[in-house]
Amino acid sequence: MNFVTNSHKQSNNPDRVYDAIVIGGGHNGLTAAAYLARAGLSTLVLERRHIVGGCCVTEEIAPGCRVSTTSYIASMLRPEVISELRLPDYGLRMIPCDPAIQVPFLDGDVVPWWSDRDRAQREFSRLSVKDAARFAQVDDQLKKLARYLQPFFMEPPPEIDTSSLKGWSDLFRVGKRFRGINNSEVSQLVSFLTGSLGEFLDQNYESEKMKTMFLANNVYGKHGGPYQPGTAIGLLFHLLSGGEHELQGFYGHVMGGMGSITQALAAAGQKLGVEIRTGASVAQIDVRNGRARSVVLVDGTELRARVVLSNADPKRTFLNLVNEKDLPEDFLFSIRGIKMQGPCAKVNMVLSEEPKFTGTSPQATALERTFYTLVPSLAFAERCYDIAKFGNIPEELWVDCVVSSNADASLAPPGKHILTCFVQYVPYHLRQGTWDENREWLGDLVVKKIAEYAPNVPGAIIARQVLTPLDLERTYGLTEGNIFHGDLRLEQLFFMRPVPGWSQYRTPIAGLYLCGAGAHPGGGVTGAPGRNAAHQVLRDWKKGRLREAIA
Ligand SMILES: Cc1cc2nc3c(=O)[nH]c(=O)nc-3n(C[C@H](O)[C@H](O)[C@H](O)COP(=O)(O)OP(=O)(O)OC[C@H]3O[C@@H](n4cnc5c(N)ncnc54)[C@H](O)[C@@H]3O)c2cc1C
Repeated sequence: MNFVTNSHKQSNNPDRVYDAIVIGGGHNGLTAAAYLARAGLSTLVLERRHIVGGCCVTEEIAPGCRVSTTSYIASMLRPEVISELRLPDYGLRMIPCDPAIQVPFLDGDVVPWWSDRDRAQREFSRLSVKDAARFAQVDDQLKKLARYLQPFFMEPPPEIDTSSLKGWSDLFRVGKRFRGINNSEVSQLVSFLTGSLGEFLDQNYESEKMKTMFLANNVYGKHGGPYQPGTAIGLLFHLLSGGEHELQGFYGHVMGGMGSITQALAAAGQKLGVEIRTGASVAQIDVRNGRARSVVLVDGTELRARVVLSNADPKRTFLNLVNEKDLPEDFLFSIRGIKMQGPCAKVNMVLSEEPKFTGTSPQATALERTFYTLVPSLAFAERCYDIAKFGNIPEELWVDCVVSSNADASLAPPGKHILTCFVQYVPYHLRQGTWDENREWLGDLVVKKIAEYAPNVPGAIIARQVLTPLDLERTYGLTEGNIFHGDLRLEQLFFMRPVPGWSQYRTPIAGLYLCGAGAHPGGGVTGAPGRNAAHQVLRDWKKGRLREAIA
């Protein structure tokens, strides 16, 4: 399915004024648009690519072979978004990944992390009885702390301003969320927010394999090796509830690939009246008297709206689409300082046979043979990051492999298999050469790495797509290839996201809002920034701030 405009005539009518225009049809833009339309606002989504979905898409990379080309696991899609927009009615179906994580080691051992805690503990006791016992305590502790953070996900962060009543009421709201918290929990929270994952794991576990299990999905897509301060936060992030049934630590395979999420969002939105245009790249947001009035497409078409929401990342929005003179200098300074530099790449493959990861139990079902993370140790990951941070491509890479056709056979014709691989750490800025020169070299390194664990893969490759950080920027519109529209580090989170003073989706330009992953609570396929931004727009709309006719 490909959503194109159904009302060119209306859209090109220069007198038409939409209530809302959303720049970008990523999952957050589509979410925001659906909520706005549900509230009765005439809403237009403008997407630069030929398909909607942004980094949450399913694309054909060989005839009949469909891949979640960018994001590939749905772990944090908000239950509110799923149910309020009735996404299952529009075809969304997810099945839990079980094991949620599975790490093969070079000694031929494969360690699965089962969703059922007793089963997981039994598995871990093979590695260390002491660690298996500790695992339950740590799991309880993490889940409890994550529950304190959970409510913040679905509301705007506080405005830290003690000179206003609103500032005080925001602080009171935050305080209430921590009712019942004790001294030791506060100190644990602070150490999760500021500490390193590596140190946390060293302190709690003795088995290297056990530590590697935790590493496998917790500094995912982030700048910084596991011993960098601030990396422990991933432990809590991944325990925020996701999926239809609001499960803490949910990991899901999406039937039809990740694009089924955005196709369902687009269909739900269209049913509510959202108009969607693909191949519609916005070149400029026109601002008059400090207020967003219209957007201008690259082909010169001007489209007017009472409110404009940008799903593009903050740098792209404020440094490319808005004229600098329309923004305060200190705001621009903060936007320029947002740390991006995506450290990841993606390699997607079509294979003529299923990858055979050494050590996989012969009894493992197809679903249990789906998800493998190849990262031998914490020290390995740290080394890998160190090499990448100086602009070099590490010869040894950390690779997350999903054999997605094992979870959903409809993704490939019979006899063909889909392997999608997330790769870190790679630099955005290369010290030598360009990504265009190094693309296939990166692909070769990834295949070499996989071959150490699944030796049949190199000989089975029918098609291969390598997406470098530069490709993520060029094709998917991610500044510096950053998958979260800005690194998830403490000083870029909560009331400091995208920049301090502007975390409530509004911007210094009246009528212009941010609704993508660059806004609170950040990246990942959650729908949270889109939903929160739409609610903020609707609050302002009700106050009459946005409704006045456009001159
Ligand atoms: C390789 C990779 C792997 C990932 N893996 C996972 C994963 O497994 N699980 C997970 O939860 N998250 C994952 N993520 C992160 C997640 O996909 C993103 O954080 C999230 O999808 C961002 O959604 P968004 O809607 O805010 O922005 P985007 O998806 O970036 O959408 C923004 C949209 O705006 C459009 N746009 C930009 N500028 C313009 C313009 N001028 N005019 C018109 N349109 C414009 C873009 O084309 C794009 O469609 C991954 C991301 C990548 C890249």
